[in-house]
Amino acid sequence: MRALTLVSDRKLELSELAPAPPPGADEVQIRVRAVALNHIDVWGWRGMAFAKRRMPLVVGAEAAGEIAVIGGNVVGFKAGDPVVMYGALTCGLCKACREGRDNLCENVGGVMGFHIDGFARELVNMPARLVIPVPAGVALRDAACAPIAFATVQHMLFDNAKLEPGETVLVHAGGSGIGSIAIKMAKAIGATVITTVGDDAKAEKAKALGADHVINYRTQRFEGVVRKLTEKKGVDVVFEHVGAETFNGSLLCLKRGGRLVTCGATSGASTTLNLMQLFQQQYRIIGSFGASVRNIRESLAKIAAGILPVIDTEVTLEEAERGLARLESRQVFGKIVLRL
Ligand SMILES: [Zn+2]
Repeated sequence: MRALTLVSDRKLELSELAPAPPPGADEVQIRVRAVALNHIDVWGWRGMAFAKRRMPLVVGAEAAGEIAVIGGNVVGFKAGDPVVMYGALTCGLCKACREGRDNLCENVGGVMGFHIDGFARELVNMPARLVIPVPAGVALRDAACAPIAFATVQHMLFDNAKLEPGETVLVHAGGSGIGSIAIKMAKAIGATVITTVGDDAKAEKAKALGADHVINYRTQRFEGVVRKLTEKKGVDVVFEHVGAETFNGSLLCLKRGGRLVTCGATSGASTTLNLMQLFQQQYRIIGSFGASVRNIRESLAKIAAGILPVIDTEVTLEEAERGLARLESRQVFGKIVLRL
């Protein structure tokens, strides 16, 4: 079977792998149809000296497909069912897993496509407990954006930051995959959304997604504009993933008792923190990584209800490097999806 493998830093190859073995008793075999790209794929492609992994590695952390074969103990799936897969191999046994906090698994086997072989291959076997049905009417291309991009945003905004209707949220990089989803999800519950973008063309697109205010961070200091827009009060929630370039400015945008939730550091991983400001302003800073299986179900339900992902481009497996380069250069508006 065909698979897209990382053979060395910045070098992907289409390989011919041995056919997938039959699924184990508690597994299903999935025919992969669409793989969505995320920043973790860019990190993996660039090379991560500290990440434990062996090359060649099948890439792809987020995907959708159809059930091909069912293991002997599996109930609830049949051949042809559209599904998505959880993006990490959790143990299913530890306290966190039993409590449905899958992204806190104590014995996680690794992130698919990053530490261990991922989804960019024709057939993959997965434990049935990590496979989630796609509701009727949802395209597999859109469903492929649920397990990581949508579910991460769902987990950040609602489990972690506890965003409420009527509150104001600052969404950084509204043109990114998760930024564009965050704008739509926050607007859908009746929040006011301020977002940042890097050029005027993206500003128009972010407005079209429903953002109430759009700031071009290259021409304006976003902290100053947010203060003005909120009449010096600040926002209730900041959705961070840009990192070093924006983190301190983001804290300055928060109102007293505000919540900052972060899942990324694309512009750099280190910053300094004013501890006086942190406790006097009673900020809550929350790190967020991945999501639970429940968050994926919630995300698919939102997609089925019409909150669709913004698709920047669709590419073939052969064109994957072009997709990754586009993501790395921040030219994207929305998600890039590989079709199999
Ligand atoms: Zn576990």
